[in-house]
Amino acid sequence: MIIAIDGPAGAGKSTVARRLAEELGFQLIDTGAMFRTVAFESERAGLDLYDEQAVAALARRLCFEFRWEAGDNVVYCNGVAMQQEIRSAEVSRNASIISALPAVRQVLLEQQREVGRERSSVLEGRDIGTVIFPDAELKAFITASPEVRAERRVEQMCEQGLEASYDDVLQEILDRDRRDSEREVAPLRRADDAIALDSTEVEVEEIVQLLLAAVHALAIP
Ligand code: C5P
Repeated sequence: MIIAIDGPAGAGKSTVARRLAEELGFQLIDTGAMFRTVAFESERAGLDLYDEQAVAALARRLCFEFRWEAGDNVVYCNGVAMQQEIRSAEVSRNASIISALPAVRQVLLEQQREVGRERSSVLEGRDIGTVIFPDAELKAFITASPEVRAERRVEQMCEQGLEASYDDVLQEILDRDRRDSEREVAPLRRADDAIALDSTEVEVEEIVQLLLAAVHALAIP
């Protein structure tokens, strides 16, 4: 079974996807972490982030795996755990730049499908329900107001001991939303058959329970 969770940054997707994966015993595929890793490794290799073929060639050499470790879903790239180094504001920005390159998306599309086909999975991203797994058994599109998303991001960063200014984070979210929604290939968009949810007012746990009920309804013949 494939569950697709899409939406913009900070809408609560990660928490929902993680809770669903835990409850159902599914693999959790954080596709944003894959784009982040490609951005991080491209920068480290000194590549021009707009050089589509060079970044795609690098992405092709990466092999991704997700493992639960001490209650955390960790992305491994070529056998190495990627941690806080892929969570900085700079990597967020760079990930949204390289994610607009069609050749890079193509490489990651194949890798996401390959990892997702291994076993029942929850995938979180921007285009899971529209492009990667259009036949997913369950799709959700989770959103929230930019202000609420910025507040949550600041809280999260503070908890991780990272410095954060609300205004900078809000601006970064608005820029990222615009880049992710306006790009030509696989823009951020709700699939027609996705359940639309807004976490501005609804508790994330309520969303989890609603989606769990939807999964169980699917499983009953
Ligand atoms: O979800 P996260 O914030 O970690 O994603 C980082 C960036 O990677 C996003 O802003 C987006 O540009 C890109 N991304 C994407 N498609 C996905 C997942 C992430 O374009 N499926």
